[in-house]
Amino acid sequence: MPILIPDLLYQADAFVPGRALQYDDGRITRIAPADELDGPDAIRLRGRALMPGFVNAHSHAFQRVIRGRTQSRPAAGDVADFWTWRVAMYRAALALEPADVHAVSRFCFIEMLRAGITTVGEFHYLHNDPRGAPYADRAELAHAVIRAARDAGIRIRLLNVCYATGGIDRPLEAGQRRFATPDLDEFVSTTAALADGAAGDPLVGIGVAAHSIRAVPRAWLRPLHDWAAGRDLPFHMHVSEQVAEVDACRGAFGLRPVELLHGAGVLDGRFTAVHATHIGDDEVALLAGAGATVCACPTTERDLGDGFLRARDLVHAGAHIALGTDSQTVIDMLEEMRLIEYHERLLRRERVVVTAPGGAAAALAPAAVLIRMATTAGARSLHLPVGVLEQGARADLIAIDLEHHTLAGWTADTLAALIALSAPADVVADVWVGGRSVVRGRVHDAQADAASAFTALSRRLAEGS
Ligand SMILES: [Zn+2]
Repeated sequence: MPILIPDLLYQADAFVPGRALQYDDGRITRIAPADELDGPDAIRLRGRALMPGFVNAHSHAFQRVIRGRTQSRPAAGDVADFWTWRVAMYRAALALEPADVHAVSRFCFIEMLRAGITTVGEFHYLHNDPRGAPYADRAELAHAVIRAARDAGIRIRLLNVCYATGGIDRPLEAGQRRFATPDLDEFVSTTAALADGAAGDPLVGIGVAAHSIRAVPRAWLRPLHDWAAGRDLPFHMHVSEQVAEVDACRGAFGLRPVELLHGAGVLDGRFTAVHATHIGDDEVALLAGAGATVCACPTTERDLGDGFLRARDLVHAGAHIALGTDSQTVIDMLEEMRLIEYHERLLRRERVVVTAPGGAAAALAPAAVLIRMATTAGARSLHLPVGVLEQGARADLIAIDLEHHTLAGWTADTLAALIALSAPADVVADVWVGGRSVVRGRVHDAQADAASAFTALSRRLAEGS
């Protein structure tokens, strides 16, 4: 059974020296004082601090192909916003063949691993062929994404996405034809087959998602949720990312989106609201009261001009906040973490804002709160025993390079703040998923091969556009 002895180990919200970690068959079997576990087979991780791997709770891997391609104003209009970005995203989505979906996903997942992300929640809504017809195997593209995750060595929870309308009570638009899941029965049987196919694979799991109130009829929400509950699967949904969605929901139902979801009976501990950037006080209370998770994606929300998360209000109300790289504009969980805190500072003109409640002495500093968002809250959102260094959890580990110049001057007390609020992602030097070493000294074995396939795909798309 491998034994790792780092200089510091992150446990119970703090870096502590003198601990060793042992794992076997993909799980952590013991954490004990280093001198108890030390022996000839122990591996000394000198100049390294060991942490749980980051959990990326919301990703669309294929969107990695449009990074850098949406940063100028569209020729036709003088406004660039979420909706004009979406046109470019749809265009890319329509161009990808199954082998392309595999190539971009594999490259994206390797980029995630190199940034210390050991689990990805892939919100998968690319279902049909480019003409909008189902593949002979309806889950062809889901299988391409899962194969990419296996090839990269990342743990995946593929959240299969139900997508039926082009807006509330509106038919799908032509650009959305690849996303269509025509009816509930078909969606459930395809998702069930995916879940059965993943059974027994320790790195692959399935979950359920409703794309948004724009794309799923209100009457479908409860059946989808209840099917997920029957299989004990997580249930995710984009919620209130844009003001226009809130306005459309109020216009159609006289309710704000979270109020609608509460009324539909789907808010609970398995529910994750992705974004939730435009929510009222009662919606903060509803999400917190239900034990739901909000998955914030601050680098994407920044890129798309979505708006700010009510992070302090949500944390103080008791809601769980997970993090996601979403559109892959940036793949850096440290950046996702720190934007939660720094956005609040800019808005409130204060410092040290997102602290966990509990009185001055008991309050957790932002660094510990942010690291929980990137680890335990993501694990909760995806229903996986990851994101923590303790016996029984999966051995998904990252080693921080304590000799990295951006961390110079660290102490055990300041290291978490240096990582969460200042350091770049390449302080992550080594990565293990399920005990398997997948990144060593910042290098993934397949990175060059994945990069050349991705570059060829990018060039082809650029020539075709
Ligand atoms: Zn998304």
